[in-house]
Amino acid sequence: RREPLGPGRLEQALCQASDVDAQMLQLVGLLELSEDERRVRHLLVTLFQEVFTEFFPGESPLPASRSRHVPRATRPRCAIMPFGSSVNGFDTRGCDLDLLLDLEPTKSLQASTQDAPGAGSGSGAEDSILSDIDLAAMPAPEVLELVATVLRRCVPGVRRVRAVPTARRPVVKFCHKQSGLAGDISIDNRLALLNTRFLQLCTEADERVRPLVYAVRLWAKQQGNPSGGGPLLNNYALTLLVLFFLQTRSPPVLPTVARLRDLAGDEDRAVVAGWDCSFPRDVASLEPSTNTESSLLSEFFHVFGDFDFPGQVISLREGQALPLPPPTAPETSDGLKLGPLNLQDPFELNHNVAANVNEKTASRFGRCCRDAAKYCRSLQYRHKSSKGRAWGLTRLFQPGAVEPGPGGRGPWFWEVCTAIAFILRDVLKCSCAAGKPPRAPSKESKLPVDSAPSEELPTESDVEEPSAAEPLSVGSKRHLPEATNGTTLPAEKRPRTNSPEEAATWSCAVWHRVWTGRRRVRRQLQHGDGPEGPDGDSLELEQKVSEAIVQQEGTEQPLQPLLRFEASARAAGTRREMRVLLRLVPSPVPPSPLFRDFFHFLQSFLPATVRRRLGQEPAGCP
Ligand code: ATP
Ligand code: MG
Repeated sequence: RREPLGPGRLEQALCQASDVDAQMLQLVGLLELSEDERRVRHLLVTLFQEVFTEFFPGESPLPASRSRHVPRATRPRCAIMPFGSSVNGFDTRGCDLDLLLDLEPTKSLQASTQDAPGAGSGSGAEDSILSDIDLAAMPAPEVLELVATVLRRCVPGVRRVRAVPTARRPVVKFCHKQSGLAGDISIDNRLALLNTRFLQLCTEADERVRPLVYAVRLWAKQQGNPSGGGPLLNNYALTLLVLFFLQTRSPPVLPTVARLRDLAGDEDRAVVAGWDCSFPRDVASLEPSTNTESSLLSEFFHVFGDFDFPGQVISLREGQALPLPPPTAPETSDGLKLGPLNLQDPFELNHNVAANVNEKTASRFGRCCRDAAKYCRSLQYRHKSSKGRAWGLTRLFQPGAVEPGPGGRGPWFWEVCTAIAFILRDVLKCSCAAGKPPRAPSKESKLPVDSAPSEELPTESDVEEPSAAEPLSVGSKRHLPEATNGTTLPAEKRPRTNSPEEAATWSCAVWHRVWTGRRRVRRQLQHGDGPEGPDGDSLELEQKVSEAIVQQEGTEQPLQPLLRFEASARAAGTRREMRVLLRLVPSPVPPSPLFRDFFHFLQSFLPATVRRRLGQEPAGCP
């Protein structure tokens, strides 16, 4: 059984790789599903198939005596098929299970039995809930409710079933208790099956595709959007951007979709909902690429950092950025909804996959790419740290860590900052995005978040109420590893005391009351879970405590965060002992009572967990 990937383990493993290419490969190995996890998904799909076949039969009305001799698997029946990340080659531990329920065989069965004399008898549908339902005539939301009902009542272990009829592609959402998987079932969405197979084909065509997509997906996830907590773009859109980038290298790494259509054989021809989805199903039909480039990740950031997103249409079919059609041209009225980021679906050509991306997110995406490209040019990206510090991909995946800053900040400052971001985001489940420095407010809260030993931590009375201007101190340099090793940073690398530029900033949103009842949940997790419970890594335990609290609050992501604040960290103190002070500025001011509660909780929680994250304190309950 594979070790769980607790907080910090990914970074630790990546730091030990020899170079960035090795880190990229290792990333895939660490994140992808294990054989056991794949088997669980397969079993779940089989279970769903069994249940749905009972309720949505598709066999032709054979007499019972003959029906027995036809193997069940070869009879036409409704089908439940996985698509998306479980099967497209970009699977990650715990990724959702996207399923397609194909009801066409059942609809055909119903049509044939309705037309036949003595309609209804012998079809196998008469004892099912379909006996007085005409699926083909049923409005889509009712079909979804029907599927939701079957899931709720008949699939063991399925919980939190909810139909979402208003989505562009309506789905039924569910969770499966024993496997812990969450998933969506969509109905009759065959385009999804084909675009999944297309992504899979691209992973088979060139071995650089998977590492690059994994790295870009994780990077984007870590640039969490402050208002929604989600990634910059969804994973499908990000993957298409990477594939487009690979089509446009010189020479190309991947063929265009138009070229794939030319290479398709007769057995590969498919038209779905009027769209030509023909491409070879077998990778052996593709011409191998002559491109031998490495460092594709930094090139990706470089290309999209300078890309004119609103002024062009990204076309995977042509493998080119096309000029926008003039407003009166027929293509626009054909339906491609133009916006700040125009990414045409490879098959459904009138669909802009990034249609829901607003201007702010599109320009943030460009900015994040530029920051990442800049970081990729640095020595810290290209060379392994001899002192065991974060380097290469590791820093790229830490929010705020690649933000370009003034030269005065030393690496220890960034280590404390990335630890703060990690605790806020990964342990306390806040949205936390690198942001602009907050304007000097009159009402603010400051937390000493340094890694000083406990006797030097500020006492309750050192930290003033959130309405006062007193920072929270979270770390001190002399207790960081290099100090304990007896080495000191060169003077020019030391942060200057109280310099206003020495600040890292984040825009944060708190979505759950993760500070309430932690002790009780922690006790339950430590004593109640047996061998599956969290191991001795106390940060992993803290992460699980937050997850349990979030779960207790319900599955729905709240529409609004409970709290918003800007956080800025800066270095302060003397040359002998530098500290990191974290200032919280609530929005709006004056702070709500809830913000005060959160602030008081952070006063003790954050310094302790930051020290633990930096490896300065043994694991254990705070
Ligand atoms: P994960 O679920 O881990 O985020 P994924 O690879 O499953 O990653 P999703 O974004 O969930 O990616 O997309 C799964 C499938 O859903 C895609 O293959 C595609 O068929 C469909 N899909 C998702 N987003 C869009 C979109 N914006 N436009 C069209 N189809 C989409
Ligand atoms: Mg998915």
